[in-house]
Amino acid sequence: MKPLPTDRLRRVEAWGMTVGGPCYVFRPSTVEGILDAFDAARNAGKTVAIKGGGNSYGDAFLNREAFVLDLSRMRRILEWNPATGVIQVEPGATIADVWQYVLEDGWWPPVVSGTAAVTLGGALAANIHGKNNYRAGPIGEHVRAVWLLTPGGDVLPLSPSQNSELFYAVIGGFGGLGVVVAAEIQLKKVYSGLLDVSAFATGRWVETLDRLDELAQSNDYAVGWVDGFALGAKAGRAILHSANYLKEGDDPHPEESLSVEFQQIPTTVFGIPKTALPRLLRPWVRPLTMRWINSLKYRSGKRQDGHRFRQGLAPFNFLLDSIPNWKHAYRPAGLVQYQVFTPKESSSQLFPSLIAMAHEHGFPPFLAVLKRHRPDPFLLSHAVDGYSLALDFRVHGKRWEKFLSLANEMTELALAAGSRFYLAKDSVLSSDQYERAVGADAVQQYRELKSRLDPEGLLSSELLRRVLLKD
Ligand SMILES: Cc1cc2nc3c(=O)[nH]c(=O)nc-3n(C[C@H](O)[C@H](O)[C@H](O)COP(=O)(O)OP(=O)(O)OC[C@H]3O[C@@H](n4cnc5c(N)ncnc54)[C@H](O)[C@@H]3O)c2cc1C
Repeated sequence: MKPLPTDRLRRVEAWGMTVGGPCYVFRPSTVEGILDAFDAARNAGKTVAIKGGGNSYGDAFLNREAFVLDLSRMRRILEWNPATGVIQVEPGATIADVWQYVLEDGWWPPVVSGTAAVTLGGALAANIHGKNNYRAGPIGEHVRAVWLLTPGGDVLPLSPSQNSELFYAVIGGFGGLGVVVAAEIQLKKVYSGLLDVSAFATGRWVETLDRLDELAQSNDYAVGWVDGFALGAKAGRAILHSANYLKEGDDPHPEESLSVEFQQIPTTVFGIPKTALPRLLRPWVRPLTMRWINSLKYRSGKRQDGHRFRQGLAPFNFLLDSIPNWKHAYRPAGLVQYQVFTPKESSSQLFPSLIAMAHEHGFPPFLAVLKRHRPDPFLLSHAVDGYSLALDFRVHGKRWEKFLSLANEMTELALAAGSRFYLAKDSVLSSDQYERAVGADAVQQYRELKSRLDPEGLLSSELLRRVLLKD
């Protein structure tokens, strides 16, 4: 066994800042570089976790005291056809890299996450969804092909018609089966860089869920923000937004709105650089002030009920990116997101119970976001025909055990309601809970593929060991 490359030791931290530690980090720029990192890991008797942009809230790319393969340098656009909207990229290209490259030709990624810092490799490994999941499905449904580098050194082309079993397992497979080294994606044609957006206020859970469902039936995008502090008769009050792409001819100046400059989000607010905001906001990120901010947001949203306006594709989709490092406002604590995907019929029972339970345990959710989903054909799919509720919690290290006990209670309730979970956001599930959510057959199939492609168990991560792979 060779000595460990101590010159590569770096601290790697989960996006939510709750967990992190020293890892041996390799940053290859080519497939050969990845294979060198594999050899180095074998020689040192260590496993390798793959990392894209590091935007998973929990331990999806963590591998403390072992190797981390950071793919952010492999970010080239390999091929682009502006006539068909088909793009081929390396895995480290981010959603921002892609939309900024293609927008002026009238194309947009068909599915995007709430931050554009996500890499395509990370997006495919998590099979991300957007505010249009009920209509567009997850990103995997727009992939024409991916090329998977196995730990054994083979590069396998995968698509819905070639090696399809592996295709549907690798997408959403969280980096346990191989490294996606390139992907070919069909983008969406757009005739304007603007969306036609409408805002609505709703008063309680049943109304909120019904209204979101209704909006989802007739709009390209639909999303809800819920006041996580409103309990009792006000529980579930929300501001919903729907949005639609503009049709050809609806935008008098498409050449303007389809430019990258037009989509840029201002870097100051009231003259204050946005980079300074997280530190200024820190004293406000506390239960009492967040209760007030949520209430204020609801009341100002209510005044805008029925308001219709146009907004750029980037500001609508990447609202959270408008304040760089906003998560630092949660420091010195960490930020845990707990997200459940619940069948339509049980959501109106489950969601108020989860929020009430969180309050009872002393963890009010500072942010609550609601989306509408539909099932998809991927092996470890997190989506169901129903809704997701994402709850953001500020969790201090000292209170971690207390939070885990709350999360465990919430998970048992959510499982009884038929929910699934999204590993990109997860920090709390046990392997037993995950298996009950996704099904024992799916877990078994994943493990069989894993032992075929990676018999020595080279690819691993703290997430995979916690929920999916037996040690
Ligand atoms: C502010 C914010 C908003 C978000 N909003 C949404 C949202 O709206 N919808 C949504 O679906 N998600 C959302 N996410 C979650 C995010 O999309 C996922 O965590 C995504 O996987 C992050 O991509 P990444 O490039 O940062 O990958 P990482 O977080 O670094 O890695 C994620 C997983 O991908 C694996 N991986 C990375 N690259 C490869 C590769 N080339 N080959 C194989 N495996 C690989 C890693 O091993 C890991 O398991 C959000 C996250 C943040 C921080």
